[in-house]
This record gives sequence, structure tokens and C-alpha cells, in this order.
Amino acid sequence: MNDDTGAQRPQRNIQRFGRRTMLRGAALGAAAPLIPAAASATTASAPTSSALTSSPTTASDEAGRAAPAAGSASFRWLGTSGWRIDVDDRTVLFDPYITRFKTGLFDGAFNPGTKLEFDPDLVREHIGRPEIVLVSHSHWDHIADVPYIAKTTGARIVGTETTFHLLVAFGVDPEQISVVKGGEVLDFGGITVEVVSSLHSRNKRHSYFAPGTLNAPPAAAPRSIGDLPEGDTLAFQVTAGSAGPSAFLMGASDFAERAVQGLTPDLAMIAVPSSTATSRYVPRLLRALGRPGVVVPVHWDNFEEPLSKLPRHDPAMDLDGFATQVHQETPTTRIVIPDYRTTFGGDMRPRTL
Ligand SMILES: [Zn+2]
Repeated sequence: MNDDTGAQRPQRNIQRFGRRTMLRGAALGAAAPLIPAAASATTASAPTSSALTSSPTTASDEAGRAAPAAGSASFRWLGTSGWRIDVDDRTVLFDPYITRFKTGLFDGAFNPGTKLEFDPDLVREHIGRPEIVLVSHSHWDHIADVPYIAKTTGARIVGTETTFHLLVAFGVDPEQISVVKGGEVLDFGGITVEVVSSLHSRNKRHSYFAPGTLNAPPAAAPRSIGDLPEGDTLAFQVTAGSAGPSAFLMGASDFAERAVQGLTPDLAMIAVPSSTATSRYVPRLLRALGRPGVVVPVHWDNFEEPLSKLPRHDPAMDLDGFATQVHQETPTTRIVIPDYRTTFGGDMRPRTL
């Protein structure tokens, strides 16, 4: 998760993104530096943030690198920090959390004793036939559906030692899990996965929910969300083929600056912070990444609403402020606000199927 309890959630009413009408086709001109894919059919308020109305630029301008070719890769947001990436007929999942059960987190009554659950039919609907599943950390909103996916698809799971022990406790075959630390560059023959040592996000008290690591399986299979410690956090850079695109994938809104330096992804899926506890998060990250041409904010949605609905903006996440900071640091970067229903091409432009 990207925050700790509902108690820390401000009651501010930030709805500009959620309620703006940005008709997808109309927003797709190359001149738009920010492309919200989410469309609301019922409201019509003009964008107000300076980041959203800036002068026409494209991702190939001088400050950002050239926009990647669409290639054969496609990207589907699974909500929270999750992605389904398809490269030709091969599928990679990152932090797939599809079941999205209620914990009280968004109602001001967070219950760490909430029982884990998963919805097999719903999960199957979204995952395709994954070959690789990358897990950033072991909080429930990243790992809760992974045991089912691992057991039913046989996919290779890549994650921390803590993720390994938890999945084994859930009954996943240990041979199916690759433990990584950060620094590994894994060659899957046409898909390259670089593992990046990373950090978990912090709330305004500079702490976070359920820290801790496991060096051995827990005594019993985890039953509640409080049984799933963070277990250190990873980021990943996935590169399709030799020409890309390459996508930097985050599961939480902090990072190890020197581990990120020089990655230069085409696309950066960046977790929106829930506090200002991490100093200069956005500019430091963008510079370390080499000012990617496309930034896709993630982990800003209410992850207890079903994926069948439009994303609901978590009011704790200052998405407008995030976009403004990105724009200030790299004015030519294209910011793409994803939704749950769009398949994006390798350039993060909606793909017509
Ligand atoms: Zn977390």
C-alpha cells in the first residue's frame, strides 16, 4: 500500500481528475502534454492546473527523449500499481491486485485484521496467460492475488525473499519463485527484466504500514492483510526486445536514487506520493531516470473499487500537484493518466483493438 491508515487521509476534495471530461479521442492530439485516458461522460469542467494546459509540446522535444515506437508491446493498467504487459503473445504481470476487497482503508476505519480473499473468475478475466509475474513488495494490494495466479498459471514469480517465504506458505511451488535483491538483469529471451533495489513510501509521520522482512516461512499461511509484511521493496525495468520500449515500474512512492541512476526508461510508471515525507521526490526521481519522455502516474486510485468502474481518485493523492511537479521538472514529458479499460501501445497511446 502507499499509505498506512485511513486516519491519515486528508478529507480534501480533489476531484478535478475524476470529474473532468477528457474525451479520449479529443485528448489524444500530439499537442497534448497530458493525456488522460479516463473519460467521464457526465461532467464537463475544463482542466485548471497549469500542468494540464501548458503550451503544446510532444514527447520528442529536446528535454525528453524521443517517444518510443509502439512496437509489439501493449500495456494495460490493472489499477493500484499493477500492469499487464504483452509483448507479442507473451505476458508479464507486475503487482497484479485485481480482487480489490474492502479493508476500511478508504472509509476511515482501516482494519489490519481484514481477511484475505480472492476472486478467481475476476482474476482470470484480467491476467491472460502470464509467463512472468513481478512483485514489488508483499503488502496485500500487491501480492494478494499472486498465490492463485502462480498456482493456476505456473508463471515464474520474481520477488524478494519475504515474498518467496509468504508464497511458499500459501502453497506455491518454491521452484517457481526467483528471489532477487536488486541489480539483477534477467534475460527471458526477448524480454529483459532489470531488478532495482527500491524503497517503500512513507506517510507524513515518515513511517509505513507493516514493515519487516521474513527469513523463513511464517508458521502458518497468512490469513489477514496484517500477516503480510512489506518485506523490502523492489522496482523493475522491463524492456521488450532489443528496441524496447522499456518501462520502469514502481509499487510504492519512494526510491533509492543511486540505484535508479542511469536507467533511462522510455516509460516511467511512477507511484504518486501520499505525503511530502520524501524530500523532492518527483524532481530527484525524474532526473535519476534521465527525464523519461512519458510518465504514467499510478497508485493514486481507490484500490477497493472494482476495476469494472472508472478509477476513483484517492483524495489523499495529490495528482494535480504531481502533474505540476513533473511538468516543472520536464516540461516536454507527456503525462498519461491511465484508466482500467484502455490498452495502450508501447508509446502509451491508446491502441485501437
Ligand atoms: Zn505497500
